[in-house]
Amino acid sequence: MELPSSAQVVVIGGGALGLAAADEMVRAGLDVLVLERDQLGSGSSAKPFGGVRATFSDPGNIALGQRGLEKYAALHERTPGGIGLARVGYLFCARTEAEALALEVSTELQRSMGSDAEVISPRRAAELNPYLDASALVAASFSPQDGYAQPSLAVAAWAASARELGARVLEGVEVTGVETTDDGDGRRVRAVTTTAGTVRCEHLVVAAGAWSRSVGQMAGIDVPVEPVRRQIAFADVPADAPGGPGQRPLPFTLDLSTTFYVHGSPDGLLLGISDAAQVPGFGRDYDESWLPAFDAAAAVVAPSLVGLPLRTGWAGLYENTPDHNALIGQSAHVAGLVVATGFSGHGFLQAPAVGEVVRDLVLGRAPEVDVSGFSPERFAPTSAAPLLREVHII
Ligand SMILES: Cc1cc2nc3c(=O)[nH]c(=O)nc-3n(C[C@H](O)[C@H](O)[C@H](O)COP(=O)(O)OP(=O)(O)OC[C@H]3O[C@@H](n4cnc5c(N)ncnc54)[C@H](O)[C@@H]3O)c2cc1C
Repeated sequence: MELPSSAQVVVIGGGALGLAAADEMVRAGLDVLVLERDQLGSGSSAKPFGGVRATFSDPGNIALGQRGLEKYAALHERTPGGIGLARVGYLFCARTEAEALALEVSTELQRSMGSDAEVISPRRAAELNPYLDASALVAASFSPQDGYAQPSLAVAAWAASARELGARVLEGVEVTGVETTDDGDGRRVRAVTTTAGTVRCEHLVVAAGAWSRSVGQMAGIDVPVEPVRRQIAFADVPADAPGGPGQRPLPFTLDLSTTFYVHGSPDGLLLGISDAAQVPGFGRDYDESWLPAFDAAAAVVAPSLVGLPLRTGWAGLYENTPDHNALIGQSAHVAGLVVATGFSGHGFLQAPAVGEVVRDLVLGRAPEVDVSGFSPERFAPTSAAPLLREVHII
């Protein structure tokens, strides 16, 4: 398909966010063009499994997660073959009294917003995930509605549905510049320049994941996103071991103290941890430098997982903001420019709900979920907006 000379809305980035937003916008009657410099879903949305959850402590994150779960269930239903959605639950483990209290407070808030999450005993946690050493835990929270889906299938489903409804979705086209005009009222979006030509547009959606800062610079705004490599690996376990082939699926299990995690998946156990030694950067080569941190945490919380032989590993980029929460909103500096990025490791689960928010912001109407706390300007030196404090950051 040739690059059109104009579109009402240009979306930069063909990952989960860009495509979920494109699908919502084209359904609302907007003329949408998605530009992806590589292949659809080749950024962070290439992750083999994406956890989907509403287990958070910030009300905005809970609301986006809950809406995301509803929308993923609907997408799974309407997509031939589904998107690999499995409601195996999320199990967050507390190893200190302070963490247990934080889980109690956030679970109470989730329940007040309609969730069926509950705080459970260490013994119950170890029943749900037999790799856990109950004696290392103080408490846990379990939310049965959470689970996982396959990002590649979700990306393909949104792209197919958006295209069917008339959106133009182009791969191999890189946005290299953003043109704005100023007729005395302040700057507003006029066009994007790309490796294939120029496209005039009224609205621009920055959904470029870990690369969003450079896209923001093209428009003269700061989008405070820092890329940080995150690595995961799959391990096979015998057929009679917990989470083994044919066994009851394990919940997505996380240790709040260290961010150690072990998830059951059809491809074996998925293991990971936030490696504090990882320096920011765009490198996405996989190596095993994260394993010492993983093993040290596993030795305390799930000792039988130490030294488990790994089958295959994968590295992707977290798109981190200073408070590890998303940047969602209309830019205060450039009219027509909407930012939807910086999801800091929970962008897949928030994509369906944020897609709706982006649609509403472009249409100039108030989104159903209040996203004011995610203002892209909250880190500006002149901003008085509070930073978000989220307990369930992995
Ligand atoms: C190991 C790992 C585990 C994760 N686990 C989870 C999880 O369990 N649950 C969860 O919700 N999230 C998880 N995430 C985070 C999640 O994958 C991301 O938040 C999400 O995929 C971000 O989607 P996106 O569309 O914003 O970005 P991306 O998928 O990165 O898409 C951005 C796209 O923009 C394109 N682009 C960049 N610059 C330009 C340009 N100038 N012109 C055109 N195109 C451009 C890129 O090529 C890219 O395809 C995890 C991430 C990693 C790395």
